[in-house]
Amino acid sequence: MSSDLPLLKNFIGNQAQAASSTSTLAVTTPHTGETIAYVPLSTSADMAQAVESAKAAFPKWSSLTFKARSAYLLALYNELKSHTDELADLVVREHGKNKTEAIGDVSKGLETLEYALSLPQLVQGKNEYVSSGILCRDERVALGVVGGIVPFNFPFMVPFWAIPIALGMGNTYVLKPSEKVPLTMTRVAELAKPILPAGVLNIVHGDKDAAAALLEHPDVAAVTFVGTSAIAEQVHWRGTRLNKRVLALGGAKNCLVALPDCDIELTAQDVVNSFTGCAGERCMAASVLLVVGDQPELIRRIVAKASQLKPGSDSDARAMGPVIDQQAVDRICSAISGAETEGAQILLDGRISEAFSAQSQMSGGFWVGPTVIRQNSANDTAMHFEIFGPVLSILQVASADEALRVENANTYGNAACVYTQSGGAAEYFSQRFQAAMIGVNIGVPVPREPFSFGGINRSKFGFGDITGDGGIEFFSYRRKITTKWAAAKEASWMS
Ligand code: NAD
Repeated sequence: MSSDLPLLKNFIGNQAQAASSTSTLAVTTPHTGETIAYVPLSTSADMAQAVESAKAAFPKWSSLTFKARSAYLLALYNELKSHTDELADLVVREHGKNKTEAIGDVSKGLETLEYALSLPQLVQGKNEYVSSGILCRDERVALGVVGGIVPFNFPFMVPFWAIPIALGMGNTYVLKPSEKVPLTMTRVAELAKPILPAGVLNIVHGDKDAAAALLEHPDVAAVTFVGTSAIAEQVHWRGTRLNKRVLALGGAKNCLVALPDCDIELTAQDVVNSFTGCAGERCMAASVLLVVGDQPELIRRIVAKASQLKPGSDSDARAMGPVIDQQAVDRICSAISGAETEGAQILLDGRISEAFSAQSQMSGGFWVGPTVIRQNSANDTAMHFEIFGPVLSILQVASADEALRVENANTYGNAACVYTQSGGAAEYFSQRFQAAMIGVNIGVPVPREPFSFGGINRSKFGFGDITGDGGIEFFSYRRKITTKWAAAKEASWMS
């Protein structure tokens, strides 16, 4: 470990605190593979300290009115918004997104915070006479200490899917950031320090052990997880066994369908944006394009547009950043090689792209070019697992219903999209896709607040959605109060 580089600290009770363990991991910048910091592998004792701090802050924080908490969140919003550029630079540095994408990462996270500012207006209980003289009302009550375990691919936005609504509802929070991108949230904690009361937001760095310590701590009432499906499934099972609320969002394999009447130019551009944006490291990215009928011009334009992308991290729309690490490069390249071995045709090969290979060699970073594979069958291996890189599988199918059969057989269920100029066809597909977030001529159909984000099938384990009204539901329970008073005329003071 080089002593010139920062060793990150946890953030507990509004103080930066060294982890109790001496084990660390190197944080690298994907552009060059260089180490830029070290992240501590915190222990269960560190996690227990953070939970204790959140628990101590809970009674006061949860007893504030929604309006009072909203005022804190507004101050946090203003502070973070005024640091958007700095936070986006950190995202570029530790994650590899281009600058425009990194600003999007921060801005989209801030949108959830903006939504949480309206909780005083949004959280209205019911109030009704359910029987003669008997009034029932309900109110939303915070759960207690809640936590989040997050992935590497959106260092700001994904933590902020949960934090604002969790805090706004009166919970106190412990975040376990991704060990691959811990810098952005560390800076958020510094910015939040003068604003939030001590213990309301805590950050504990580490890997799966810190995550398990959060999940299994008896004083943690609820956990959201976002990451790969196998771990999401495990986290959901481990947490619910302990009677905690767990919402675990997993991976995806999103299918896009191009009908014969699609607008070729719009479709080609949108598909390319979808599978290459953020170097394909998005759970909403296009993985498979099902082309209905023979559409050679569409495929030609997709390949032509993707081949124009260049390695880079500036704001240029044609700049595509690196993937997160060498393991990701190996996984993506082996998926392409596997497809080739099975007989698929590689129309554009990111393993040997001149510009991206040169960038890899020159920088030492983790660069893979955009790749387009023409598959032979829906049974091909690459059609089924999440590659999580800038790779698009194209399969030609004979009919709309065959496209639906292939999409419906997908074991995941985040996004699906249809490209068409027919409203009727769009509706037909929207009603039949086996995915929870549907696009019509939009390849990354992320629902924004007040709508909630979440998939079905192996893209989500647990009930409900994150963000929007799903977040309000998840981060509170309904207290029902039933009251009966003696009629006024019977009261002694009336006579
Ligand atoms: P990952 O599953 O490797 O890690 C996610 C988090 O889980 C990290 O903080 C990690 O430290 C922690 N973790 C690792 N092993 C664990 C264990 N055994 N128990 C508990 N926690 C553990 O995921 P990643 O590679 O960081 O992120 C990419 C994945 O996230 C992709 O599959 C992507 O589709 C998915 N993702 C899904 C959504 C969604 O909304 N569905 C959004 C973003 C990313």
